[in-house]
This record gives sequence, structure tokens and C-alpha cells, in this order.
Amino acid sequence: MLPTFDPRDTEAGSRILEDITSNAGHIQEQVLEEILTKNASSDYLKGFLNGHSDKGLFKNKVPVVDYEDIKIYIDRIALDGEPSRILTNESITELLKSSGTSGGKQKWIPKTAEEGERRAFFSCLCDTVLNRYLQGLSDGKALLFVLINPDIHTPGGLVLRTTSESEIKNRKDRYPQFILCEDINQSLYSQLLCGLVQRDAIASVGTYFASGLLRVIKFFEEHWQEMSSNIRTGQMSDWITDPNCKRAVSLILSKQMPDLADSIDLVCQEKSWEGIIKKIWPRTKYVLAIITGSMAQYIPALQFYTGGLPVVSPLYGSSEAFFGINMKPLCSPYDVSYTFIPNMAYYEFLPIDNHQDPNCTNRKDAHLKDHIVDLANVKIGQHYELLVTTFTGLYRYRMGDILLVTGFHNSTPHFKFVQRSNVVLSIHTDKTTEQDLQKAVAIAMQILEPLGFFLLDYSSYADTSSIPGHYVLFWELQLRSNDDIPELDQVKMEKCCSLVEQSLDQKYKLLRNQSISTIGPLQIRVVKQGTFNVLMDFYVSQGTSLNQYKTPKNIKSEKVIEILDSRVVGKFYSREVPNQDS
Ligand code: AMP
Repeated sequence: MLPTFDPRDTEAGSRILEDITSNAGHIQEQVLEEILTKNASSDYLKGFLNGHSDKGLFKNKVPVVDYEDIKIYIDRIALDGEPSRILTNESITELLKSSGTSGGKQKWIPKTAEEGERRAFFSCLCDTVLNRYLQGLSDGKALLFVLINPDIHTPGGLVLRTTSESEIKNRKDRYPQFILCEDINQSLYSQLLCGLVQRDAIASVGTYFASGLLRVIKFFEEHWQEMSSNIRTGQMSDWITDPNCKRAVSLILSKQMPDLADSIDLVCQEKSWEGIIKKIWPRTKYVLAIITGSMAQYIPALQFYTGGLPVVSPLYGSSEAFFGINMKPLCSPYDVSYTFIPNMAYYEFLPIDNHQDPNCTNRKDAHLKDHIVDLANVKIGQHYELLVTTFTGLYRYRMGDILLVTGFHNSTPHFKFVQRSNVVLSIHTDKTTEQDLQKAVAIAMQILEPLGFFLLDYSSYADTSSIPGHYVLFWELQLRSNDDIPELDQVKMEKCCSLVEQSLDQKYKLLRNQSISTIGPLQIRVVKQGTFNVLMDFYVSQGTSLNQYKTPKNIKSEKVIEILDSRVVGKFYSREVPNQDS
């Protein structure tokens, strides 16, 4: 049984947090015991444990799996309507659509009512931490931009939702008002309009992932005049036809508000939108958005728009389970770590060598099990891939996320989110991870930052259509002044290409240096503004949820390359072979 408490009672919440983080090892053993006792008779576990619920047997017999291994069980429940007990003795009520790999294939993850309660407990702990650091949050409203679609059902009769939709629809106490609408434009327009009308009541602004907030700001930039005019006349634009949007806005926008419209115009007419969030919502205490892992690339852009407000990256979670809470919400976005909450699920960790390509860990290695460590036994400074065993029917399931242990809160480790294990650029024997690429791009951007540029988004692919193959980066740049992008300085852009190469690892530099080059000069293709929004729309049209969208960093799809290529405004190659000695 999880303890219950009022999230505004920070003392009670803090006591619980201190208590559970002081007993992580013990709680984890209890959690595993509970999961096994509850689910030993599931078809899946019976196949390995023969009905026993012994923890030692579990560690010996139950294999490490990924989604593809268990898809067949999930499909039986989701598509054929077979009972939940194939996987779990909790009753599966929903399936959560996971983004899976960044921008990759979708997974369907079981969720139960009991799991909903566990996540509610986790959210209360998160609120406790925020309330501890920021006073007076409950005096204002939280403006959280999310896209909530009407429910759909699987052929087996289960509701199919995204994690965010599930959280919001099941937690009316926490989310008293939301807009249910399939049309992204109408939904965003209405959410922004409601947020503008109530601008003085807003205490926090956010989305789930940082990329989503940048999308909202761009959308606002394109529509603020129309919104302001709606506020002036008290009438919403005709193109908003969705009944849910109309209803939600009419509750808030019921009269002409010329003064409010004037004040919005004053802010938005400024040429540079630096600090726009703080200016539009002056009582905002913080901005909420996950900013770690692949989202770290958006830190400079977000800081530009937030005007010095703290950007809080509150948690590490997924469709599969919720894992960790950022116990220092006001820390620099570059220093965020997540302390694992030990009673959410049973966690195990596969050590990863710092310089090893995570994909080298043979996914079907029979000895994989021998290397696994549990939560209480991870080592500071070591990288791990996370495995999770849940009450809802996932057992030793590879999350595909790489985490670094940064320390302990009481006896519970906290982790920095490093990257997804499967994101790499690869040509020949080079394997460049997402983290390597991100660091290299950030270093190269130091050339352009003094000229007033920041990088709005980027992506990459290995172009092997010519020999030798080379890496291509697509960059979308923006000027802090909001001016149109001028013609880019060829020498500086070529220097950026060289700096990216220079910042990649020794293996890459070696392959670039060989007398018969194995990898050709890296290329940056600058794309016109708005391109990454078009890309996002493309993925959303293919079924990805905008709330959970992460720009894919290693593009494989020809269609996606075509979308980006058709918007290229400048191409630049590295003119120097990277120096192997540095
Ligand atoms: P989804 O199931 O679609 O919500 O995606 C979950 C995935 O999002 C995780 O497995 C991570 O790869 C990523 N993710 C979730 N939380 C964070 C975080 N705080 N920092 C970085 N990546 C995250």
C-alpha cells in the first residue's frame, strides 16, 4: 500500500520522500516480491517460473527482453481481446502509446487502475518537491500545453491513449480544465487564447518535452495578432470550429477586452522575443519541460524565450513506468539528475562501458543476466541501461535508455539521463552516439552564437549514396533579433563543420584520416525556418503523439530526408581533416 498525502502538505510529502529514499534496497525487494506473488500465475511468468514466486528463481530464469519479444503477448490482449492474466493479474484497462525510439515505431504498453494510483503517488511526490522550492504555486494556475485526442479502442476493446492523455483524463482533480481536440492548430490556438485571457493568473507554463514548448512559441509568433484581435472583440476566429475548443474558449473569453489586447500587442510587437514567456505571463514562477537527454539541445533556445525563469525538468518517466524525480528542480538544466522512486517498479541495470556502443551489447546474449545489478548496488560514475519489471506485466524489459549514476539521495541513487541506446550515426566501423553528436554540435555552435544565432533544432543521417560515405547534419538556425536569416558566411559555416568533426571521438577522426578515407567530410545543410515543425507534423500525421515527440536524430526514412532536403538553403562541407592528436 502506498502512503497517501496532500501534495500541498510539503512536510508530510518530504517525510515520505526521505523515508522511501532511505530504504530503497528493502523497498525494491518488497516490490519484486509483491509483483511475483501477484503475477506468478500469469501465462508469461509461468513459462519461466512454473508458478513459483521466488525472487532468486526470477533472477536466474526470467530473460532480459525488449518490446519485440513480448509484442506477441500484448497483441493477444490488445487485438484478440484475450484476458490480462496472460501478462499480469492486475486488470489491464488501457494501452499507452509509447513513442518508443525517438520518432520510431510505436509500442503499446499495458496500464491498470492500480498503476494509475502508483503514478498519482509519484506525481504528488513531484509536486512536494516543487512546492518545497517555489512558494505560492497553488495560488495561481498552471498552463500546460498538451494535445488531447478523443479516445480510440483497439480491436480487443481496450482504450488506446498516450501517457499524457491517460494522466490528464484520469486525473480530473489535478487537471480540472483541458481541451479535447484532434486538430493540432485549433487545439494550440485555443489553449494559447485561454492562457492569454488569464495571463495574470498563470503561475507556471509548460509542456511535457522542451521541443513541444518551442513549437508552441513558434505557433504563438505566427498567430498572436489574430489572438489579440479576438481578445479585443471578444469573438473567437471563425476557423475554430471544433465544438470542444469553442466551448472551452467561450467560458473564458466572454467579453471585449481592449486593454488586455493592447498590453499583449505591446509585448508581442517588440522585435526580439527574448524573454517572451516572462513578459506575457508576468506572474510565472517557472517553466516546466523535460530538458534532459535529447532535449538538452533546446536549452539555449528555451532560455532565450523564458527570460531568466527557471526551467524545471521534473521527472524521468515513460509509458512503461515512472522512474525518477528531480530533487533539485531549480538547478541548472545541464545538471539535472533523477532520484529513483523505489516503490514504482522493480529496477535493474545493465552496466555499459563508457566508450562502448550500446548496440554492441548483444541483445540476445544468454549471459546478459550475469551482469545485472539492482538499484541499491549501482556505482557512481558508471553508465547503465535500465531494465524494468512492472506490476503491469513487463519483466526485465529493456527501456533502451542509458543512465549515468551521479550520486545518492539517502540510500537511493540518482541518475543523469544520457541518451537512448539506439541512437547512433554509423558509417563503416564508426559509431557516433547521440550524446557525442550533441556535444560536438554545441561546440560548433560557439562559432555562430556571437553572431546572434541559436540552433532551433537539428538532425542527421549517414549519407552512403557516394563513396566514401559521410555524415550530414540538418540545422535550423534562428537569430536572437528575430530577423530573417542573412546569407551565411561560408568560411564560418565550414569552420562549424570542421569543429563538429574535431569534437567527435578518436575512431571517427582515424577513419577520416586514413590515406584512403573511409569517411568523407561532414556536411551541414542549413534548412529554412519552420522546417522542423514540418517534420514534427509529418511524424504526428504518422501517429506519433505531439506531447511525446522527440526529433529523430538519426534519420533512416527517405521520405524524411526528402522533406528536409527540399528545404535546404545552404550546404557546407568541412574543409579540414580533423586533428587526431586533440
Ligand atoms: P514515452 O513512453 O513515449 O513517454 O517515451 C519515454 C521515453 O522518453 C523514455 O524512455 C526516455 O527515452 C524519454 N524520456 C522520458 N523522460 C525523460 C527525461 N526526463 N529526460 C530525457 N528523456 C526522457
